[in-house]
Amino acid sequence: MKLILDAMLGSLARRLRLMGVDVLYMRDEEDKDIVVLARETERWLVTRDIQLAERTAPRSLLLRTTDPEEGWDILLQWLREKGTRFEPGSRCSVCNTPLITVDPQEVMDRLPDSVRSSGKEVRSCTGCGRLYWKGSHWDKIMEYAPEEAREDGEWEEEGGGAGGGGGILGREGCERRRGPIILYIIPGMEGACSEG
Ligand SMILES: [Zn+2]
Repeated sequence: MKLILDAMLGSLARRLRLMGVDVLYMRDEEDKDIVVLARETERWLVTRDIQLAERTAPRSLLLRTTDPEEGWDILLQWLREKGTRFEPGSRCSVCNTPLITVDPQEVMDRLPDSVRSSGKEVRSCTGCGRLYWKGSHWDKIMEYAPEEAREDGEWEEEGGGAGGGGGILGREGCERRRGPIILYIIPGMEGACSEG
């Protein structure tokens, strides 16, 4: 499942990439360009902008909640229902490029002492060159990982830290599901709620 996320959802985009999901993040692009790109690349658009969601329908998801964790859970559930395979540590969280395993000797000067002496596997982004290795910081990330992906994950990014903050998602609910459901599928409003 390939996605495009608009500018309001940077934190979510980073999380998804850390889970290996192919995500384009539209930081500065205009709506009309996002619409074209979404169509051309056959990606689902995730946004909190209802007008943009309508313009990219039917492949669009409108997220509405003030609770980032809730929005995250619902988006994950939707991805699962679509058969998405989560592969933590397989994609660069910064530029979305797949990672490759590299010889730690070749990048020794960029690794912390703890990693140098550990014999840990090191991966590199072929897009931006950023390095990734298994580390403690990933433990926190994995707390919100899909259950089926957790056993695989302890990957940490070079210079990484907890990225982004809260408040990335909007508010509203869908009365047709139990609890405060946030994810609407546009258009037509007859399949307005994600099933399940
Ligand atoms: Zn990269």
